[in-house]
Amino acid sequence: ALKCGIVGLPNVGKSTLFNCLSSAKAQAANFPFCTIEPNVGVITVPDERLTKLAEIVHPGRIVPATCEIVDIAGLVKGASKGEGLGNKFLGNIRETDAIIHVLRCFEDENITHVDGSIDPIRDKEIIDTELQLKDLETIDSRLAKTEKAAAAGNKDAKVEVTVLKAYKEVLEQGKNARIVEFESKDEQDCARNLFLLTSKPVLYVCNVGEADAKSGNDFTKKVEALAKEEGAEAMVIAAKTEEDIAELESYEDKQMFLEELGLEESGVNRLIKKAYALLNLETFITAGEMEVKAWTYKKGWKAPQCAGVIHTDFEKGFIRAEVIKYEDYLKYGSEAAVREAGKMGVEGKDYVVQDGDIMHFRFNV
Ligand code: GDP
Repeated sequence: ALKCGIVGLPNVGKSTLFNCLSSAKAQAANFPFCTIEPNVGVITVPDERLTKLAEIVHPGRIVPATCEIVDIAGLVKGASKGEGLGNKFLGNIRETDAIIHVLRCFEDENITHVDGSIDPIRDKEIIDTELQLKDLETIDSRLAKTEKAAAAGNKDAKVEVTVLKAYKEVLEQGKNARIVEFESKDEQDCARNLFLLTSKPVLYVCNVGEADAKSGNDFTKKVEALAKEEGAEAMVIAAKTEEDIAELESYEDKQMFLEELGLEESGVNRLIKKAYALLNLETFITAGEMEVKAWTYKKGWKAPQCAGVIHTDFEKGFIRAEVIKYEDYLKYGSEAAVREAGKMGVEGKDYVVQDGDIMHFRFNV
């Protein structure tokens, strides 16, 4: 399953965001290191196409895609050197697919800031530096070994040395590993297998107060400009407000609250959509009497690979895929009607699956 890690300094609103994102509850409290165990929660990925299809198919259940969220607490200045509880948690970041970096862009005298003042740019650099130092540590410990193997003529080791050195140079300049681009496939594969913390895709979340929920503020503008420079994504969320919204029972009440804030969609929905885009993820759907279900795959994957998401046997024994476009399913009202209208595609192993495709795989067992 897809896994996103939430990082940020203490008291910036990580647990609050985690709470409004996930069905699991983390404990939010006004002191540093409150969330000392990495909290794991699961979010369902909102997708109105599933609901619309279910109205036609009447399945036993709807199964949305899910995304795991890990609240990684305890990062402070010096974390990579064992300050605070940071070092222990840096390892938890290694296992994630993407990083959600929360930055405090709200003022509140009652909520202590570990470094005294509100300055999201400084905060970002503090966290970045710790992650970079950790990456440098990883690189240095590998380099010693790998250089020996490379000198002895090992080809893979030679590739790795090139990759490690390219990363090291950038990291030593205080930049993140993700800005390095490798040309050869060997180097790219090697780079991926290093699981460096600062090579993971990042989404900056500017946590603001209720009044700035719609348009942000001077702090968020600075973050957005910086993210743009880095080729990263940034977004504004009023986490505490969204936590209140999440507690409302009815859908109508939630919508009304959002409208009052001038928002069309909840921050949770916007965040998940951004995370999907950041990771190049798309959704295909299977629709049957038993269930209407969303499946996650990487943009550009072909039919057999997507079949493999459901079951490895589907990929191994792949014969063909029957594909219905979402719009056609709605328009004709049933699979049979789509078939009759000649709108069902019969696709082979080279078909590149498109977001929203309703798939039916045929395979040998
Ligand atoms: P963490 O240490 O980063 O996990 O921070 P928490 O989520 O525990 O938040 C720390 C404190 O700040 C809590 O008391 C939250 O209720 C509060 N808080 C979070 N977001 C906001 C916000 O947007 N505005 C205000 N005023 N308080 C917030």
